[in-house]
Amino acid sequence: MNDPTLAPDVVQFREALRAFVEKEIKPNATRWDHGERYPTELFKTVGDLGWLGTAFPEEVGGSGGGALHYAVMCAELARGSAAIALGIYVHTALAGGALLHLGTTEQKARLLPAMLRGEKIACWAYAEAGAGADVSTVSTRARRDGEDYVLNGAKLYITNSPFADIMIVVAATVPELGMKGLSLFIVERASKGLSVGAPLKKLGMGASEMAEIVFTDCRVPSRDRLGPEQGGLIAALKVLSLGRIASAAFGVGLGRAALEEAAAHTRQRVQFGKPLVAQQFIRFTLADMATRLEAAWQLTLHAARLVDSGLPFDQAASMAKLFASETGTWACERCLHLCGAQGYMRESAAQRLYRDCKVIELGEGTSEIQREMIARNLEK
Ligand SMILES: Cc1cc2nc3c(=O)[nH]c(=O)nc-3n(C[C@H](O)[C@H](O)[C@H](O)COP(=O)(O)OP(=O)(O)OC[C@H]3O[C@@H](n4cnc5c(N)ncnc54)[C@H](O)[C@@H]3O)c2cc1C
Repeated sequence: MNDPTLAPDVVQFREALRAFVEKEIKPNATRWDHGERYPTELFKTVGDLGWLGTAFPEEVGGSGGGALHYAVMCAELARGSAAIALGIYVHTALAGGALLHLGTTEQKARLLPAMLRGEKIACWAYAEAGAGADVSTVSTRARRDGEDYVLNGAKLYITNSPFADIMIVVAATVPELGMKGLSLFIVERASKGLSVGAPLKKLGMGASEMAEIVFTDCRVPSRDRLGPEQGGLIAALKVLSLGRIASAAFGVGLGRAALEEAAAHTRQRVQFGKPLVAQQFIRFTLADMATRLEAAWQLTLHAARLVDSGLPFDQAASMAKLFASETGTWACERCLHLCGAQGYMRESAAQRLYRDCKVIELGEGTSEIQREMIARNLEK
């Protein structure tokens, strides 16, 4: 997993991240999970280290890295705490990515530098009670009224929304056009007519906070429409290249944490007069975990390299996301199994990993959506 093909600067970046995660994130991950609060000061810390700007050009305050650097960052962060990684990913890859690729010069200058320093936190508000895998069912409306748009509707399951300063909201400007009639809006938290519900209780990703956002005649100045009117979401999905790669990296990071946890436990736990790891079944399970995770990581790196080379990456990104997220879930389940009752206890990392991993298969296009896209590409 210490891939020798990585360039020296990427290795250096990974080592710095690893050291940070070992010191600042891993020791706190279970406590943050139980507390169900995101340590928002981390945005500033990670921003000061320059890592929020990993995949952003220098002119907007980024460090000029690409998808490969971003994948390495997501894998390392998720190894320490997938919930922490999730908040950073929504802020950078989704909200930040949409601003970078679709924003006007003024929008970028106004928002991106502060976001990349971690001074302003953003969320990405697409999902609704009725809109999940099927994006054509978004019912939040944005009606033009003079120099403003007026938003009405509700977004659900929005990560970072309990504390976000900036919301990138998907709303229908021409509802009868379905997906083609969707546009994006930059909505500031202080906007009149916007309210955020209490944080929702979840199975996993405890430290990551999510809530419902309700818009009631919420006026958004037309200068804050992001990208084209109609076709805004389609334009965003075309340029948000980091989403599936980041999700794949999350699967790998969670899986690596699971492998480390399982290996450590089975080395020290003695049954039948010897450490568990002396049993062939246990060693073979660890070997299978390492092998599948390596395959998942190589798929992830391949997709990231295609993005960075400007080559078509769609199929590779879907394959990486599908395989790595399902491999991550499988590895976390195996880890819990090998850790036995000790792993089942609330204080163990194994149970946290087991609860955290499943959502990676759901976000950024569920496994079924990825399979559908891969199958369609085979027909081309
Ligand atoms: C922890 C967490 C954080 C989230 N953060 C955000 C966020 O920040 N912003 C945001 O906008 N959303 C967020 N979401 C919501 C996320 O976008 C949705 O979960 C996702 O879009 C899938 O929608 P759904 O969960 O409603 O599933 P549904 O669309 O209801 O699907 C349910 C199941 O049916 C399957 N299915 C659906 N259609 C088909 C089909 N045609 N063929 C075969 N199978 C199908 C799916 O694969 C899935 O297994 C978050 C969700 C979670 C759990």
